[in-house]
Amino acid sequence: MSDRTHKFWSMREVALLETRHDICTPTELAALTGHSIHAVYSKLRSLKLVLTERHCRGCGDMFIPTHRGHIYCSKSCGHAAFDRRILTKERTVQFEKILGTILERDKEIMDTLGNKNAR
Ligand SMILES: [Zn+2]
Repeated sequence: MSDRTHKFWSMREVALLETRHDICTPTELAALTGHSIHAVYSKLRSLKLVLTERHCRGCGDMFIPTHRGHIYCSKSCGHAAFDRRILTKERTVQFEKILGTILERDKEIMDTLGNKNAR
């Protein structure tokens, strides 16, 4: 076992669990507190923090998660969120391509002007 599993829980970290356990997944809680995911699970159990409802990260509706890592109300909501992430990435790539073309043309124009001035 690593030292992290035995790390002491500070009052601040316990407060983070109490206030965020219904919003964040155990992975996120582990990142927030610096404890392992395993430690987060056992602390949540010992604090008797039960997950009842949470907001869907896709549509914002309230739903009852079947496990703590559950962040979308339905499969379709999860798929839609995935598609949005892909679309954002594609748009960024397209934008970078356009920007690259503009910069290349700018350089060509500047080079042409430079050559004309040199003559
Ligand atoms: Zn949803």
